[in-house]
Amino acid sequence: MAVWVFTEEVDGSVSQSGLELVTKARDLGDVSVMYVGEGSDEAFGALGAHGAGSVTHLDPGSTLPGAPAAAAMADAIGDSCSLILFGASNTDRDVAGRLAARLGVPVIANALDVAVNGGVSVTSEILGGTKAVTTTSEASPTIVITRPKAFVAAPSGGGAPVVTAVDLPDVGACAATVTASHAEESEGPDLEAASIVVSGGRGLGAADKFALMDELASLLGGAVGGTRAVVDAGWVPYSYQVGQTGKTVKPDVYIACGISGAMQHVVGMKGSSTIIAINKDPDAPIFGIADLGIVGDLHSVVPQLIDALKARD
Ligand SMILES: Cc1cc2nc3c(=O)[nH]c(=O)nc-3n(C[C@H](O)[C@H](O)[C@H](O)COP(=O)(O)OP(=O)(O)OC[C@H]3O[C@@H](n4cnc5c(N)ncnc54)[C@H](O)[C@@H]3O)c2cc1C
Repeated sequence: MAVWVFTEEVDGSVSQSGLELVTKARDLGDVSVMYVGEGSDEAFGALGAHGAGSVTHLDPGSTLPGAPAAAAMADAIGDSCSLILFGASNTDRDVAGRLAARLGVPVIANALDVAVNGGVSVTSEILGGTKAVTTTSEASPTIVITRPKAFVAAPSGGGAPVVTAVDLPDVGACAATVTASHAEESEGPDLEAASIVVSGGRGLGAADKFALMDELASLLGGAVGGTRAVVDAGWVPYSYQVGQTGKTVKPDVYIACGISGAMQHVVGMKGSSTIIAINKDPDAPIFGIADLGIVGDLHSVVPQLIDALKARD
């Protein structure tokens, strides 16, 4: 079975999501990758090491990649492609939608797992992650957008893939040029990649109390996250938000401070290996998914934790 993976370069390298998708795809069939970005032997080598047999490379330069990447991919995949996997980035979604329109096939989004058994079966979550549904697709190819961190990237020892560079297709009036890009400045580990995440909720009480989260995270070498309630209150930027409409994290340890455990938050962090919750309400739903729960006032518990960590050093 021919399986294609779309991936866009991030900071000069293959995105983590691309490596995760290639790892999954190699269990389903022969893997080809549509790679959008400047490209490098290192990036293509990483794709090969994770199981890609071939890479089609499109360098969009300053052109917004959505339209040309979809056009190039529609040409490249050929008749034998049965499944195309996308991640959840803005470009991934843009290309997936445009490609679906070109090929006349539907898109199945929000996927947590994909299996091949005659057709393509896609497992996704609905109702804020409270229910899982399996959709069987008879479309050929089937286009699937997967949730962040649905799969774990692991090299397979594969060699360098065959790389074919393609020219930027002419997409006429759909062409758009990127004139400026802005990256939000941040300190410390990346929230989505951190092995420890300290998250604060409305229970912190005020924006300046987030300093407690910063201090605890810094002592643990972790990243700081938050709930939508604190983002909406303007205590922290949107980039901190964990949950259904924020980021998905899967750290080794997730420490939830003053967070009730609303399902829209939980869907973004329930894959964490160990969840520690600090909440003054013993009936808070977060304790239902916590491995370790501390019933208490976070303004007393967190400073004690910080003191204990400082004493240990
Ligand atoms: C479409 C939609 C999408 C959404 N997407 C997201 C999302 O991506 N991420 C997200 O987080 N939310 C999201 N939400 C909002 C979500 O439903 C909740 O409103 C939000 O997660 C609640 O945040 P919270 O836990 O900080 O606040 P609250 O629910 O108000 O909980 C605060 C908790 O702090 C505890 N507390 C109070 N004082 C203390 C103290 N001194 N010490 C210890 N504990 C204390 C309380 O007991 C309470 O449990 C979404 C909602 C909708 C409708």
